[in-house]
Amino acid sequence: NFRCRSAFKLLEIDDRFRLLQPGFSVVDCGAAPGAWSQVAVQRVNSAGSDQDLPRGMVIGIDLLHIPPLAGAHFLPSHDVTDPATHAELQALLPSGQAHVILSDMAPNATGFRDMDHERLVSMCLSLIDLAEKVLLPGGSLLCKYWDGVLAHRLQEKLSSVFSSVRTVKPDASRKDSAERYFLARMYRGSVK
Ligand code: SAM
Repeated sequence: NFRCRSAFKLLEIDDRFRLLQPGFSVVDCGAAPGAWSQVAVQRVNSAGSDQDLPRGMVIGIDLLHIPPLAGAHFLPSHDVTDPATHAELQALLPSGQAHVILSDMAPNATGFRDMDHERLVSMCLSLIDLAEKVLLPGGSLLCKYWDGVLAHRLQEKLSSVFSSVRTVKPDASRKDSAERYFLARMYRGSVK
């Protein structure tokens, strides 16, 4: 039982692209109420359900409270765009590094499509800063955005640090919504 229907979007994307593998460390941005984290816990085996597979780690972050989940470590009342959160993540992750960053973050929609689009794009851009701090070379970033004029710029920014960037619109996402995901793979790594 998933906490939210959004789980089916991640299941669909992961079935297609195999982002989440047993033993991987995952950062789930905008994790409340925790459905994506539920999927991630299963796929990276962070609750240790399969003793024969390596055990991964899932860290979920949200401004809101997230009900506890076995196999996940939550940072509620945390802003993903805040450098203090990045530092906390570095301290929690094994060797300070993650294989995958997931983001289903969204600002509270105002209903003004352009404004909502711009706010979400700037949140996505901050994920590139987070990647620079914690993402392993070769790692992946999956982030939700609302389509609009700045999508191309976001895609270019992602392409400057990831070798492969594509747009994904899962079947589980309403056809008439502007919701899309960028799947950025093969992180080139930051110059530290
Ligand atoms: N993926 C979640 C799930 O499957 O349960 C649903 C995520 S919901 C669509 C978007 C979440 O992003 C909200 O809970 C919201 O509080 C969170 N959010 C928005 N801005 C944020 C920020 N700056 N830092 C952390 N979380 C944020």
